[in-house]
Amino acid sequence: MKQVLIVGAGPVGLTLGTLLCQYGVECVVMEKGKSRLSASKAFSLHARTVEMLKLLNADIGVDAKAVKVEEMRLYSRHNLLSKMRFGKSSNTECRAIHSYPQNLLESELETAFCSHGGLIEKGTKVFQIDHQPHGYLVHYKYQDEVKSQCFDYVVGCDGANSIVRQLVNINSLGCAYSENFLVADCKIESMSHSFDYQKHGHTFLSSKGYAMLFPIGQDYTRIVIDTDRQYIGESESENLAYLNSELEARGFSAHIDNVKWISVANVRSSLVSKYSVDNIILAGDACHIHSPVGGQGLNTGIQDAFNLAWRLAFLIKSQGSSALLRDYEYERRAVAKRVLKMTNSMHNMFVTKSKARAFVRDFIIRKVQARTSVNNKRIEQLSGYAIAYQPPKNLSNGIKYAGKRIGNISFCTGPRTQNLYNALREGKFVLVMPGTKELDKTAIEKSLGHLSNWVKVLIASDFYEKLSLYTGPQKASTPGFSNYLLVRPDAYIAGMVTNHSDLKQSLETMLTQYNMEVRA
Ligand SMILES: Cc1cc2nc3c(=O)[nH]c(=O)nc-3n(C[C@H](O)[C@H](O)[C@H](O)COP(=O)(O)OP(=O)(O)OC[C@H]3O[C@@H](n4cnc5c(N)ncnc54)[C@H](O)[C@@H]3O)c2cc1C
Repeated sequence: MKQVLIVGAGPVGLTLGTLLCQYGVECVVMEKGKSRLSASKAFSLHARTVEMLKLLNADIGVDAKAVKVEEMRLYSRHNLLSKMRFGKSSNTECRAIHSYPQNLLESELETAFCSHGGLIEKGTKVFQIDHQPHGYLVHYKYQDEVKSQCFDYVVGCDGANSIVRQLVNINSLGCAYSENFLVADCKIESMSHSFDYQKHGHTFLSSKGYAMLFPIGQDYTRIVIDTDRQYIGESESENLAYLNSELEARGFSAHIDNVKWISVANVRSSLVSKYSVDNIILAGDACHIHSPVGGQGLNTGIQDAFNLAWRLAFLIKSQGSSALLRDYEYERRAVAKRVLKMTNSMHNMFVTKSKARAFVRDFIIRKVQARTSVNNKRIEQLSGYAIAYQPPKNLSNGIKYAGKRIGNISFCTGPRTQNLYNALREGKFVLVMPGTKELDKTAIEKSLGHLSNWVKVLIASDFYEKLSLYTGPQKASTPGFSNYLLVRPDAYIAGMVTNHSDLKQSLETMLTQYNMEVRA
């Protein structure tokens, strides 16, 4: 029997599959499509997603191939309301939005998954799951033949209309937006104003609705507008004429001379009531669907996969309890709720056709969003850097820091430089300790005994200096302060281990608080 079945080879299923293989868990992905779409649904990868993708044991090409969009500009007709600059900050490498086609991302992830020993069965449509005394009997159709196979765990990464979700009767609560969205990938030949649409993202608000322009590389621009239409035109010339007139109606005339791809969709805003039933789990669009405003769907889904993978791996290896799935739901549902609140409010603000509301909106954006602190807060939310998890209720140490993001810090150990994310790739917690010698590490790891199945040690001579980027000032000279940092496999701080007299005992306590089953 295979351990895990992932239903759906979208970005979320493939990220989860690659991570599970990386952590030594056998898994199969079943995908109903025979081949990948030639067009891309999503483009925007936000900074935290790009950062987390570095936890994969594979280079999926985002750094080298993505178009980096460092600024989003918001206009009311021609008047600039605000600029969001996704530059650098003290603890980030780059906060730019990475414009990277979803189909390319999926193809890179598929290569990574297969090179880690993962198996994808394409043209395979799952339609029924039966509960068995030991696992699940999954029924699927492959080339008109009905087949069945048993699995211990099933993860539904099968998108907005998830069959897995329906089969376990999980409700998805929400509603459809009243507007449809037209999405088109176009070449813009000319524009009435000197908008730098090849470099920056632009959103234009007007009483006719909104239009978003986003560079996607090779001289193409993704255009998203809200529309009453429910269909696309039959010919390219009809679509070109419609797009040009809709852009004109929104306050700027552009001449579009090439449409590579165009689609109209009605979008929902919804969230599931729970993320799992026994050992059937959901992730990605199967759990939450957002307005395209803010480009959050793909990002939230990929981050679900990072949150779930290490928990599922510990659970499967009998190193963690089933409460890990409850923790996954607790953390990720709270994030999805916040993302939905943000995208719903942005959506309603952007599509309003009421002149009075538009006036108030423009006034508020000009006055409030222009403030650096408000602007920075919005950037942190959109980029995913604002995500922080509640520490476990019974956590004894480091509550102040637990749940905060930690970036891909390079630490020095004597003459060597080591990367935190490299150390996290095994799917274990990493204990970062101040020190100068690799020798210390071997001795400490040995002293941890069986706990080394959960924890990897990293020695850092520049520990306090680097740590303070994420936790605020930390000084080795502070009396009584000589904490060790415990980092979760998905690069969030687990806590601080302070009781050095019995490091093993302190670690055991903290890991138990994270629902690890560490008793020898
Ligand atoms: C036009 C458009 C633009 C978007 N732009 C952005 C953006 O810029 N930024 C952003 O963050 N998000 C964006 N999104 C949202 C983003 O595309 C989704 O959030 C993302 O695709 C979700 O990934 P997923 O893996 O959860 O689901 P999906 O990508 O939907 O993948 C699900 C997979 O499951 C397969 N499947 C379904 N049922 C079965 C079955 N019964 N058996 C086997 N396989 C099955 C499907 O074939 C599919 O391959 C956009 C969406 C659209 C439609």
